[in-house]
Amino acid sequence: MRILVQKFGGTSLSTEQARERVIHHIERERNSGYAVVVVVSAMGRKGDPYATDTLLSFVRDNGGALPAREKDLLMACGEMISAAAMCSLLQSRGIPSVALTGGGAGIITDEQFGSARIKSIRTDRLLHELQNGKVVIVTGFQGVTSDGDITTLGRGGSDTSATALGAALQAEIVDIYTDVDGILTADPRIVSEARPLEVVSYAEVGNMARQGAKVIHPRAVEIAQQSRIPVRVRSTFSDEPGTLVTDASAASGGQAVKDKFVTGIAHVTGVTQISVQAIEGRNDMQLQVFQTMAKHHISVDFINVTPSGAVYTVFDEDADHALALLSECGFSPAAVRSCAKISVIGGGMNGQPGVMARIVEALTEQGIMIMQSADSNTTIWVLVQEADMAKALRALHAKFDLHR
Ligand code: ADP
Ligand code: MG
Repeated sequence: MRILVQKFGGTSLSTEQARERVIHHIERERNSGYAVVVVVSAMGRKGDPYATDTLLSFVRDNGGALPAREKDLLMACGEMISAAAMCSLLQSRGIPSVALTGGGAGIITDEQFGSARIKSIRTDRLLHELQNGKVVIVTGFQGVTSDGDITTLGRGGSDTSATALGAALQAEIVDIYTDVDGILTADPRIVSEARPLEVVSYAEVGNMARQGAKVIHPRAVEIAQQSRIPVRVRSTFSDEPGTLVTDASAASGGQAVKDKFVTGIAHVTGVTQISVQAIEGRNDMQLQVFQTMAKHHISVDFINVTPSGAVYTVFDEDADHALALLSECGFSPAAVRSCAKISVIGGGMNGQPGVMARIVEALTEQGIMIMQSADSNTTIWVLVQEADMAKALRALHAKFDLHR
């Protein structure tokens, strides 16, 4: 049996026309001989009647009073509605299908309600249904604990459901269908010149995803990479093949990988830069700062430590808490809120001189201040004010010729 997993995101299911496109992709692959597993998200986005955010408003109106376990019960509903609706649509076209919950599809998770991790997948039921010639629709974003409680997998969790099922079923490929033409060189909502990449490595996409490119969830990429399952990110609204995500060797040996240092640019908004000066006669500053943050579960990023002080970032929503804690420790921290972290990513930049110089050039030409920077083999990060972010992304995109 040649198994294919298709995952459809919220906007791919939100309108009748979009659902027609979904049926079209399922039928096409089925007709070409695949046993098809379809993973569905909740329909639409915030404001749409059955979107997860909308379901959550029931609780928000009560001041958020609901234990995590029961909140997962509510959050898992959107996918169930999608799955039943798609099952009905397939049946009406004479395509045999069955809809399964995450638990029904054998996805067993830990008890971390709201951000559960998949522990194992029992594939017997899935395989049985596929063998009977059915299209199996699985609710994304959810699993079940060994006690039978429904859990959700966190933001972007349907991508994780899809690649995890692909790995467990040893699928030939996992197709992530969405509302853009693949993995683009930057977020098309900000950089209109962004274009889809033909082939990228798991490492590069994982990097882009971790640095804010929300087109695929980083956990989903990790699982695909571990199991070496190829992933395609493609549009529901066209028949183009989209972006193939595979390992570096296959990528360079197979389809043409463009000889470029930089593959793409990602960004994260809503970060606060905190600076703490060392105090004369106190040599525990660095230890105190980071131990305090850790103790209070404040996640820190972009850390630069020097003998004269420490600079790092936290999410805007954690900034007040972090600053209060630092003051309690006797420091006088300074903060710049509403910053954006921009990541210039490329497997090919390793050892290439001048990449940083070009970044500085691009931003200086636009009069954009770089507040902090750091680099690794495959990424250069810069921190800018959020107000400069769009301009910075466009300037960097142009400087590295990513539109070509
Ligand atoms: P879905 O509902 O299909 O899961 P998402 O909203 O999670 O869709 O992801 C698709 C969106 O990701 C696109 O509409 C696009 O705005 C955004 N995006 C951000 N960065 C990128 C990128 N580098 N390539 C493609 N899309 C991106
Ligand atoms: Mg998504």
